[in-house]
Amino acid sequence: MSAAGAPPYLSLTDVARQYLRCREAVDEAVREVLVSGQYVLGPTLASFEDAFAAYLGVRHGIGVGTGLDALRLSLAALEVGAGDEVILPANTFAATALAALAVGARPVAADVDPVTALLSLDGAERARTPRSRVVIPVHLYGRACAMEPLQEWARANDLVVLEDACQAHGARAGAAFCGSLGSAGCFSFYPTKNLGAAGDGGFVATNDDALAERVRCLRNYGQKVRYNHEAGGTNSRLDALQAAILRVKLRFLDEWNHDRWRLAEAYRARLAGLERLTLPSPAEPGAHVYHLFVARHPRRDALVSFLAQRGIQAGIHYPVPIHQQPFYASSGGAAASCPIAEALSRQVVSLPLFPGMAMAEVDSVCDAIRSFDLA
Ligand SMILES: *Cc1c(COP(=O)(O)O)cnc(C)c1O
Repeated sequence: MSAAGAPPYLSLTDVARQYLRCREAVDEAVREVLVSGQYVLGPTLASFEDAFAAYLGVRHGIGVGTGLDALRLSLAALEVGAGDEVILPANTFAATALAALAVGARPVAADVDPVTALLSLDGAERARTPRSRVVIPVHLYGRACAMEPLQEWARANDLVVLEDACQAHGARAGAAFCGSLGSAGCFSFYPTKNLGAAGDGGFVATNDDALAERVRCLRNYGQKVRYNHEAGGTNSRLDALQAAILRVKLRFLDEWNHDRWRLAEAYRARLAGLERLTLPSPAEPGAHVYHLFVARHPRRDALVSFLAQRGIQAGIHYPVPIHQQPFYASSGGAAASCPIAEALSRQVVSLPLFPGMAMAEVDSVCDAIRSFDLA
């Protein structure tokens, strides 16, 4: 889009705009870490871990290198491995399944709810076998899964619940925060997430003292005491620099999530009544933090190209369900049938939405969609 008169490019998300809203505090926090000389582990990390754990209402928070590592180290700490199966939604980012693979377990894709696109109890029950050990509900797009029925089902079947809250910082499942209800809750601080670092980062939240201690040990070469390496550990620690940035941004999380909610409501009002466009189903305030605003359209690919020609980036989350990923067959997974997830993968379209997005930008996206849908 370089031609004169071309509309400005509107991307799916714009993390630099968020930085500009907390620039001075972030710059100051970064300088403090640089001057302190303590760049790995240490007080800055501990302070952020305590703050985010307190925000979530859990006893322990452990900063790790990525969201994938948060999931992988939690599974390892739960001693999930070869011979075990991990039930997860067919509609999720690949990392949810890759975490199971990383510990030698088998990811088993379950079909999703046709309205919310989240793991359905029905799908989970069909995916269950005697080898199932863990179920991973994913609060996808920022929408909270219904945790109570899932936890009841998991208890009845002796399954551990591990939450993938990588897209749901600050979302509430009932009264409690997503990520605070399972045996552990896993977060990513990838820059575009609702709470995002200036690089990679992850977090494990848990009320389980022993689990917290094992994750802490695993992320730091398997050592509790220096140079005494007990478990097959790894090196996956949230940087002090990232922790300092996140500590500042945490103060803005609720405000930014509120911004996202407001933008989503604006989309709903402006896009209501289009015959072929399905809007995301409504959620209770607080139960959806709109990491992504995901609509559906029967001519999705044509719509995405149409928007691109007008300088608007749309996304697809996700185009290939887990059970159709190349790694799935080779992991020994039985050929799963997840027709709802498959249909969704052909129709979902994510519209630009990020804190700091202007209403005029929402208008321009909606005008473009209207002219496509009415054409
Ligand atoms: C981002 C994400 C992850 C992985 O997080 P990384 O920090 O990128 O490793 C896992 N699950 C879901 C649902 C995600 O959106």
